[in-house]
Amino acid sequence: MGCVCPKCKSNNIIPIMYGYPTHDAFKEAEKGNVKLGGCEVFIGGGQPDRFCKDCETEWCVENFLVEDIVKIRFRYWSNWGYYDPESMEEGQWAFEVFPDGTVKYFAYPRASRRILDKEVVHIEIEKVMDFYQNVIWLYRPWTEIEECRVCDGCSYELTITYKDNRKKKLTGDLGGGTVDKTVTDFLCTIPEFRDKLDGSEDE
Ligand SMILES: [Zn+2]
Repeated sequence: MGCVCPKCKSNNIIPIMYGYPTHDAFKEAEKGNVKLGGCEVFIGGGQPDRFCKDCETEWCVENFLVEDIVKIRFRYWSNWGYYDPESMEEGQWAFEVFPDGTVKYFAYPRASRRILDKEVVHIEIEKVMDFYQNVIWLYRPWTEIEECRVCDGCSYELTITYKDNRKKKLTGDLGGGTVDKTVTDFLCTIPEFRDKLDGSEDE
């Protein structure tokens, strides 16, 4: 899915370019394929990077807040042992956290998206918002991220999906680093999921 306007959901979206435009950039702007944002570029970002040609909204993915998140997905998979691509045993797990308080759990084989186990719970919306806030902090440039490297443990991928369909990803190994600990601490507050995490994570 391509980028959509967070206000009117149109997919008539073009990027905004900053800096002194080249000849090609002028041509693209004339054709309406890019919007020229001027020569001033602020250090640290925060300038709009997309423009909606239908409702003229400009926005920047960096400025999105908790209420602009439509889903956070935490997927992790085992790197341990002999890897058999045909295996139908559980080797990959995912949790999806939605703004309405729905939290979904899935278990898959290591090399397939075939769902072997599934559970859906509903938690308080406030808890989701606190979690979203903690995840947003992980992406802040000033947040110190401690990473954990475990060769034969589990690796994870944490994906934020925003309301303009854009995604942000963090990846690493599971084992008490800043990112995975933020997520697993949250998931462990949900009684239905505590056991599932204990079963697959080395303490
Ligand atoms: Zn729009």
